[in-house]
Amino acid sequence: MLSRRNLIKSSAIALGVASLDLTALAGPVARTSSSWIELDRNENPYGPSPAARKAMIDRIERGNRYLDADELNAFRDKIANFEGVTRDHVVLGAGSSEILWMAAQEYLGEGKTLLQGDPTFELIGRLAEAKGSRVERIAVTPEQEDDFDAIRKAAARASLVYFNWPNNPCGSMAPAAAMKGIAKDLANRCPVFVDEAYLEFVDPSLESSTVSLVKEGANVIVARTFSKIHGLAGMRMGYGVARPEVARRLGSYRFSVLNSLALAASSAALDDQEFIASSHRRIKEGKTAIYRLFDDLGVRYIPSSASFVWFHEGDRNWAPRLRERQILIPSGRFSGGWNRVTVGTAEEIARFGEAVRSLA
Ligand code: PLP
Repeated sequence: MLSRRNLIKSSAIALGVASLDLTALAGPVARTSSSWIELDRNENPYGPSPAARKAMIDRIERGNRYLDADELNAFRDKIANFEGVTRDHVVLGAGSSEILWMAAQEYLGEGKTLLQGDPTFELIGRLAEAKGSRVERIAVTPEQEDDFDAIRKAAARASLVYFNWPNNPCGSMAPAAAMKGIAKDLANRCPVFVDEAYLEFVDPSLESSTVSLVKEGANVIVARTFSKIHGLAGMRMGYGVARPEVARRLGSYRFSVLNSLALAASSAALDDQEFIASSHRRIKEGKTAIYRLFDDLGVRYIPSSASFVWFHEGDRNWAPRLRERQILIPSGRFSGGWNRVTVGTAEEIARFGEAVRSLA
């Protein structure tokens, strides 16, 4: 007999879906209570920005109406303008997760192979497996960087290649020239998905985006999100940039009308350069504080291009003991003794620091 859990799993597989379920990752925690320090899901502790909040409040009045085509197209135009492409290159989704989901629907299934690094952000890997695809995972190098040589060698077997640049969870990032070189080469034989969820935390960001490959006509899909530097993870808005025929096919898998408050908030966030710059600066300062802490404690870490730090926890097993102090970091999610801590506010990092010092 099927257990309830297996039944849910097999229904999900039948539907060709798998759930990211970030909500389940930390177990039953009353996160809405302000005493919890959440350093486990790579959220921006400073968001939403005042401008995004105001835009949502202003938009609530029309919460009884679906978004209309004009609003959607105006937002796509705004993104297109920001990225230097046309509206037809842009596909919107409920977070970049939905863009990953769309790509899995279009390119993966029985007999198909997804090629990706390991570790990486596992959503599309799980979606691929749920659809019966093979997933070829190429281990990162000992320096915790994507192994481009090994990925190139395996690419002949791939139906879709997924890069996460910068890499979550490692925080590492290949130089832009190397990233663009491999994406462009591999895109000659199969679609290449570049997930740039954390690119805005890099100096300089947009100049290096692989959107430039899409502009050259390469079969590359670039995903970006409002969940990270824009501080809108709970609102669910992201987008993909791809060749127009690809963007159109991906868009055909959209499950539902987009959320009007998410659109209003994201549109305001895109204009809010001050908030973006201050998040960038404060997250960078937070990373430096975490490096100092780990240096003091003799904990190995990887300098991060993103909004979290990948460190070698070894057998210290901090997560359950931090949880007793209402501090959340991932628990049991990664292998090889590695773990990840999201950059919180200065105060949160100080509390994390005090706690791990007392455990060390
Ligand atoms: N891609 C990467 C690399 C991520 O780390 C995440 C979330 O943590 C996502 C995509 C999905 O983000 P969202 O669906 O909120 O845009």
